[in-house]
Amino acid sequence: MTTKRDKSASPVGLTSISRIAESTDACRRCGLCSSVCPVFDVLGLECASPRGKLQLVAAAGQGDLSCTKELEKALCLCVGCGACSERCPNLVMAKETLLAAKQVLPGKRPGRVFRIAAGLMSREKTISHAAGIAKSLRPLWASSLPDDQGLVMRLAKPGARFPKLAETNLKKIWPRNEKNGKPVSLMPRDGSPNAIAGIFPGCIHTYLTPKAGISLARVLAAAGFRVDLLENTGCCGLPALSAGNTKQAQKAMAHNLDVIDIEKYSVIVTPCASCAAMLKVHYPALASKTGYNQAGIAERLAAKVQVLSQVLAKHTGKIAQREKVTKEGTETIAYHTPCHLAKALGDSTSGPKVMQRIENAGYRQTKPACCGQGGLFGVENPEISGKIGSKAAKILLGTGASTVATECSGCYLQLYDLLWRENRKAEVIWLAEAIERFGLAGT
Ligand code: SF4
Ligand code: SF4
Repeated sequence: MTTKRDKSASPVGLTSISRIAESTDACRRCGLCSSVCPVFDVLGLECASPRGKLQLVAAAGQGDLSCTKELEKALCLCVGCGACSERCPNLVMAKETLLAAKQVLPGKRPGRVFRIAAGLMSREKTISHAAGIAKSLRPLWASSLPDDQGLVMRLAKPGARFPKLAETNLKKIWPRNEKNGKPVSLMPRDGSPNAIAGIFPGCIHTYLTPKAGISLARVLAAAGFRVDLLENTGCCGLPALSAGNTKQAQKAMAHNLDVIDIEKYSVIVTPCASCAAMLKVHYPALASKTGYNQAGIAERLAAKVQVLSQVLAKHTGKIAQREKVTKEGTETIAYHTPCHLAKALGDSTSGPKVMQRIENAGYRQTKPACCGQGGLFGVENPEISGKIGSKAAKILLGTGASTVATECSGCYLQLYDLLWRENRKAEVIWLAEAIERFGLAGT
């Protein structure tokens, strides 16, 4: 099926279950979506399949309240990969319908959201499971994280191995003007930029991997951009949206739309495909469906958002290896395609295209596989998440790659844990780090 989906038809942001359920009208129950659903693959239960979940949404839309408890449970069983929407021959926006349904369930109690540690979650199960753990662990290693960052909740996954929380953050290490302390732009070596790029760093580059944020800026500067850090931006809001909290997601969106000077930039680059999906796909839907007065601004921002591989796929120049720390030809690297890039943004080619130009490391191509993290899915369902993810890790390591590059915060965190479990010598790095480590050939 090649017909283009009308993104404006996304039910995300609708406030009535009967309106959301209209999105299921085109479903013919063929089950093709179930054949690509990673959760159904693990559980094998119809209630965990996209088809089954859509039937529950349809029933709830027709006023059948007897299904709502089952629906609440079923909606927890979605990693948000978008494979179902991509596969459906009838253009049913299955993933988006499930996401929208989370926002309007009768059991939702938004007032409670603001009383929990991260200020993000509204789902009962998440509150008891994730917030409790996050609260108890945060003083030990994450007390510097602001409450409104989705990263706080992602780090609450029980038993998982995480990167050490950085002692600084991206704002502190970004170069500043010595006199006025304001952040300065990174410039290309010849001092003549072709365009201006703004980096939307997201929680992970701001707090967990800030040095990779500097790598991203240097790579963009090497590609000819003048690079600014959008330092006043906050969480993109996707964790809140995924947890069923439209209000908090809107708040995050309103803040970001307020502080980004969109017209100044040719491109807004985010290291994270999940942030990109939120900014590019869900912001316009959220803004328009809720009568938000910045719908036009959301559209203008969406038009400029890209991840690094998308920028570099169009850039033909060479980017030199930053430090020769590797023996030429002995390193092998694979690329993990984030579902949010391949499915939500519809781009499964830019990453591999860029990786084929990696120098000083052998590129091992793999078929894309969901990592199983899915925002908060991994926190709510660690076992299922682990089973989905270990398949992806095995595919990546099965190529013989010792290093895996990716460009999504959820994938990065999940692979950080799972690659280590599968092979303690393997590591995951950001795409920008891979380019600085190995160099990128020109075309
Ligand atoms: S959502 Fe699409 S693919 Fe899935 S059962 Fe319905 S028609 Fe088939
Ligand atoms: S978004 Fe992914 S996990 Fe969720 S129902 Fe669709 S295919 Fe399954």
